[in-house]
Amino acid sequence: MELNQIKQAARMIREKKTGTVFTGAGISTGSGIPDFRSSKGIWSRFDIREYGSIDSFKENPEKVWKFFSEIEKSFLKTSPNPGHFALAEMEKLGHLEAVVTQNIDGLHKRAGSRAIYEIHGSLDEMVCLVCKKRYSSSSALVKRENMFPYCECGEILKPGVVFFGEALPEKIFEEALSLTLKNHFIILVGASLQVYPAAQIPFLAKRNGLAVIEINLEKTSMTSRISDVFIQGKTEEILPILVDELKEKV
Ligand SMILES: [Zn+2]
Repeated sequence: MELNQIKQAARMIREKKTGTVFTGAGISTGSGIPDFRSSKGIWSRFDIREYGSIDSFKENPEKVWKFFSEIEKSFLKTSPNPGHFALAEMEKLGHLEAVVTQNIDGLHKRAGSRAIYEIHGSLDEMVCLVCKKRYSSSSALVKRENMFPYCECGEILKPGVVFFGEALPEKIFEEALSLTLKNHFIILVGASLQVYPAAQIPFLAKRNGLAVIEINLEKTSMTSRISDVFIQGKTEEILPILVDELKEKV
């Protein structure tokens, strides 16, 4: 365990006071949710690039819905891990203004984080591609025929997550970016950020003078380029120690 780096990060957070965190798949692997790039579990049976693409949805929405129903079921069987809880606690301590996440598993919410920007959308929502109306997944307004949800306009609804071939939700992304840049540090957790526009967030943060703390299992393309502190290891082990450090009286 890299205790020196954790202490260094804690000092930085105390000094800078408020920041945001950016999380990717790596924070949820400790909850048993494999990175979709891996070949474990559900992802070995479904090719995400096929089932999670907007073209597949337009071609065969029922097939895509069956896949997302399985995904949702598998998420509900999991629980937030100590990493998710640590971030919720950091928010309560007043150090974290928001969690910006690429994940669609809903685990930050279940761990008690309040300010969450889900830049890849959420399974809690459904959207109509024709009339653009959005529904909560539990909405009574949604008509279900053969299990599939339909909009009031008659069109089949799409899960509220960002598909391959779709743009990120602009408003949420802009808000997440501007809140990040208003703050003084960013913690990158379990995210390799190889894909734009998400990768813009840490690089713009660095350019705007924010301190960058990175917690990842392996080094990434950001480690040597923008990270001021790099803590290598499992996020569910490191984050609780970091929070304990922040709670220590100095
Ligand atoms: Zn509609």
